[in-house]
Formats: sequence, C-alpha cells, structure tokens
Amino acid sequence: MKLLVNFSRGKGRKPIIAQVVRDTGVLINVERAVIDSSEGEALIDVPDDQCQLVRNSMTSLGARVRMLEHGIHFNEQECVDCGACISICPNEVFSFTPDWKLALAEERCVLCGKCIEACPHQALMLPL
Ligand code: SF4
Ligand code: SF4
Repeated sequence: MKLLVNFSRGKGRKPIIAQVVRDTGVLINVERAVIDSSEGEALIDVPDDQCQLVRNSMTSLGARVRMLEHGIHFNEQECVDCGACISICPNEVFSFTPDWKLALAEERCVLCGKCIEACPHQALMLPL
C-alpha cells in the first residue's frame, strides 16, 4: 500500500521516516520524496498488513498521512494511444500492447505527475 506523507520540519528536524522504521520495525520503501528546509512530502510503500501501524506512528509524530489505493487515474475514453506518456514516465508504467493500445502497470506509479502534462488529451489525472 502506498502512503502519501506530508510533514513540517520544525526546530528539531527529526528524521520522521527513520524514526517510524525504528519504532515499528516496518521496512519502508521511499518511492519519492521532496523535502526542503520547512516541509516535506514523501510517497512511501509499506506492506498492506502494516499500513495502519505505520500510519498511526507517523500521525503521532505530527505528519499528515493519506492512503493511496490507486496510481495515476486513466480515462480510456480520452486516450488516443499516441504513446507520449510512455517515454516521459520514469517508472515504465505505460507500454503498448501488441495491437498498439496503451497498457498500464498502475502499481508501478509513484504519482510524480510527469505524464499528466505530456498527455495531449487529458486522459491522465492524479487520484483525488
Ligand atoms: S504519475 Fe509519474 S510514475 Fe505515475 S504514471 Fe505518471 S509519469 Fe509515471
Ligand atoms: S499521452 Fe495520453 S493520449 Fe497519449 S497514449 Fe498516453 S494517455 Fe493516451
């Protein structure tokens, strides 16, 4: 399960992800992180059965945590199978089927948003 974690970096600048790994013993896979001097956002992947434990631990440390059950949202009706999203995606989410239809491996998506601007038909959106 993917979790989107937002946190502010106060005076102490505690390493929140490291602290949660230590406290819970859950190994966390960080798929994407943007951190500056005042705040941070990280997309993490944790085993489904330990998701709630990690979420609670992060929340208790002041983070806001959102469970993401889906990757990029794909509107098949709008897609013209142009392939523009294939080369732009850093995680090889998109590919063509043998008959040149777009195929998605949604579980690989790290919600970076790069494909959204590349799509000429607004067929791709971040999940709400
Ligand atoms: S949001 Fe990023 S990782 Fe996900 S499909 Fe688009 S480009 Fe690929
Ligand atoms: S860029 Fe948009 S229209 Fe083109 S293949 Fe990807 S989803 Fe379909």
